[in-house]
Amino acid sequence: MKVFYEELLNWYSRNRRELPWREDPSPYHVWLSEIMLQQTRVEAVKGYYQRFLNTLPDVGSLAEAPEDTCLKLWEGLGYYSRVRNLKKAAEEVMENYKGEIPGTSAELKLLPGIGSYTSAAIASIAFGERIPAVDGNLLRIFSRLEMYDENIRTSAALKKAVQYYTELMPEKPEKIEEGNPCGNFNQALMDLGNAVCLPGTVPDCGNCPISDFCRTHRERPGLEADLPVIPAGKDKKVEFLTVFLIRSEGRTAVRKRPARGLLAGLYEFPNTAGELEREEAVEWLREHSVEPLRIRRITDAEHIFTHKKWIMRGYEVITDPFSEKDIPFIMASLEEITDKYCIPSAFVTYLKWLDPNRNIPKSR
Ligand code: SF4
Repeated sequence: MKVFYEELLNWYSRNRRELPWREDPSPYHVWLSEIMLQQTRVEAVKGYYQRFLNTLPDVGSLAEAPEDTCLKLWEGLGYYSRVRNLKKAAEEVMENYKGEIPGTSAELKLLPGIGSYTSAAIASIAFGERIPAVDGNLLRIFSRLEMYDENIRTSAALKKAVQYYTELMPEKPEKIEEGNPCGNFNQALMDLGNAVCLPGTVPDCGNCPISDFCRTHRERPGLEADLPVIPAGKDKKVEFLTVFLIRSEGRTAVRKRPARGLLAGLYEFPNTAGELEREEAVEWLREHSVEPLRIRRITDAEHIFTHKKWIMRGYEVITDPFSEKDIPFIMASLEEITDKYCIPSAFVTYLKWLDPNRNIPKSR
């Protein structure tokens, strides 16, 4: 057990990734980074993390910020319920914990948006708690270390992995000033999963600090990539939409999505179900009090969500500026669309269409 974590922690001290949230792993920084990293790549998070902190540097400012400000700072990261829960949790911390983020995984788990993995990650990295933070990386490494060849996406597999790593973790020192071996243990495994024990390809077992403990490497060398066992996913549901860029004198129509459901409360370009032909599109516009002066097909687009896929057909519509006051949309300037209204990345193709010269990041 001791050799396992010593080898792992030695490797980590030489190979750890330099990440912005590791420079000052305060509870707020670790919490924010862990929420942003849920289902999002590290490289995509870095810029958002810094921008968010520049505007909302602590839990108090987050609790007080308007929801639209938080959504705007999250624009393009996707999974917007994360930032809504982050804000709700900040309000709870201010109300119930006197502004101090609670220091145990058990208490953290009671806050909105914080599940088993995230509570363990924050508690171990920011407070030194002895608890493994088992995410997809740690599950994959576990499956190879233990030659676990059953479905990895089950609660039984997760339980086994938690038990396995709990036995291998170092003890928590009396004081966190003496070091944070438990937080480093989790972060070392995360980095190992990112650089050595890779998903979807042959792992770099020759450079693995814990290869002596790896059953798959020992008993089935060359076949490590066959694990973990992941059942084939279901096909995504496909939905067809027609999206309208309704424009008039430099302004474009946007509207707020319903408060519940997919992309709740965010802004979007007006759209409707189905792939409308030109005549049908004109009919839909008139039903919404828009009298098109010109209408033309523009680019098609796709967006993939976790469980569904949108296939979008676009129309650009030039309308009469005098009719603006009657239409049921907000006519927004490009600056307002960029700085004020949070448009999710599902519409990024049409966002770029508004001003092809504007520098809108690709990841949005
Ligand atoms: S030896 Fe290879 S398969 Fe085993 S944990 Fe290390 S990198 Fe992963």
